[in-house]
Amino acid sequence: MNSPEHPLHFPTALAALPLTNRFGSLPPVFHTRLSATPLPAPYLVCASETAAGLIGLDQTAFDTAEFAEAFSGNAVLSGSEPLSAVYSGHQFGVWAGQLGDGRAILLGEAPAPGSPTGSMELQLKGAGKTPYSRMGDGRAVLRSSVREFLCSEAMAALGIPTTRALCVIGSDQPVIRETVETAAVVTRMSPNFVRFGSFEHWFWNERHDELKVLANYVIALSYPHLADHTHPYHALLREVTQRSAELVAHWQAVGFMHGVLNTDNMSIMGETLDYGPFGFMEAFNPRHICNHSDHQGRYAYQMQPRIVEWNCYALGQALLPLIGDVDTVKDALTVFQPTYDKKIAALWRAKLGLVTEQADDDALVRELLTVMAAARLDFPVFFRRLCGLTCDDTSADAPLRDLFINREAFDAWLVNYRHRLRLENSHDRERKIAMNRVNPKFVLRNHLAQTAIEKAQQKDFSEVKRLLQILQRPFDEQPEHEAYAALPPDWAATISVSCSS
Ligand code: AMP
Ligand code: MG
Repeated sequence: MNSPEHPLHFPTALAALPLTNRFGSLPPVFHTRLSATPLPAPYLVCASETAAGLIGLDQTAFDTAEFAEAFSGNAVLSGSEPLSAVYSGHQFGVWAGQLGDGRAILLGEAPAPGSPTGSMELQLKGAGKTPYSRMGDGRAVLRSSVREFLCSEAMAALGIPTTRALCVIGSDQPVIRETVETAAVVTRMSPNFVRFGSFEHWFWNERHDELKVLANYVIALSYPHLADHTHPYHALLREVTQRSAELVAHWQAVGFMHGVLNTDNMSIMGETLDYGPFGFMEAFNPRHICNHSDHQGRYAYQMQPRIVEWNCYALGQALLPLIGDVDTVKDALTVFQPTYDKKIAALWRAKLGLVTEQADDDALVRELLTVMAAARLDFPVFFRRLCGLTCDDTSADAPLRDLFINREAFDAWLVNYRHRLRLENSHDRERKIAMNRVNPKFVLRNHLAQTAIEKAQQKDFSEVKRLLQILQRPFDEQPEHEAYAALPPDWAATISVSCSS
């Protein structure tokens, strides 16, 4: 074990990761410098080659002791000045006051040529207590770390904006939740980890100077094209609102439910952030609640667009002192609905293999969702099977019709859908190829994650690795992995996902 005063220096590829600390250069009120709490005997659970590639890190580094030491927080990477950031937020619609990185430690950022900022911040989640831990122990359990790791990388492969996950490092150290579990640290990466709640923090504390410093920092780092704008803060709010609207459209189209859409979990980059009790829609129910702690269903599937817009209003309120007047704030926020409508319409059209835009496409989608909800259709299975539809041969509809008990409503929809396809002379083979590219065969179903977690808890990490590999190619057929695309087994209904992590 290395004390923070005597950090290891790496002779391997990790040494080529010279971290810099842009967030750390903000005034001290924005963060607290600290060291991770050492994690006893850390070991690699899984690492993502593609995530590592973003910061030029070779997979040969994964199996080294240095890797586990660095990403457990036991050793300090060269140049790194670890810190935790302060933020506040609205939780379940209620002002929660100060929160902050209760178990996250920012290591600094590494050069990443493919990133919009040219760099990626590296953050340890679960590396010990911070001044913002409140009642928490600063730790994360293996279960939730594996879920965050797999889902981050799965979302990226689905083409959905998200923070990335470099690796999960485990330890036998016990962590108490509902039962005794073991600790793990997941290393996340993002061009910028600032949250909506980071702005709300300064607004609600009436610290407008800090608010401005933060806004200028975010603009300089992530929205540099706004730096010379006549109304940079209005433009910032507008762009963040736009990105958030597009993000939630992606979620709806793929059936992703975040689970805890509090303002402190909203990324200023417009990325999916903070994977906790998330879920992917299986048996379609627009009112589905993936988080068992969400008794009101505030964050149910069908609520997400409205909630994300609400969160943008919270950001707008926080930026009010910089923007100047309420009407200008409201003006920036008006982009939400048209941006969302346009994006979701485009995504649904793509999912249905439609190339042209027609007036009643919206009705076609709404009718489909009604039919799907009535039949509680499995979301990914249905859309994937729909890719194989032929325009003329109704005798080949069996794989689709088999999903329905009451087929009448679906048959009626199919007549309309086929009519719509013929209207644009849709070509079966080409449409199938295009639809297969947007309707994933593989998503991180709860039971798949659960199986991988239970094996990992027995120190067998092979299933985590296999799942990562499958989910990194979600649109490919991968016939050898057919079972991972199948309907969930009965026991999946007993999995309960809560805020406990
Ligand atoms: P979440 O609902 O996971 O986004 O967490 C809300 C707040 O609680 C954030 O400030 C987290 O950093 C903090 N938090 C959650 N779990 C823990 C924990 N085990 N230890 C310390 N802080 C935590
Ligand atoms: Mg959070």
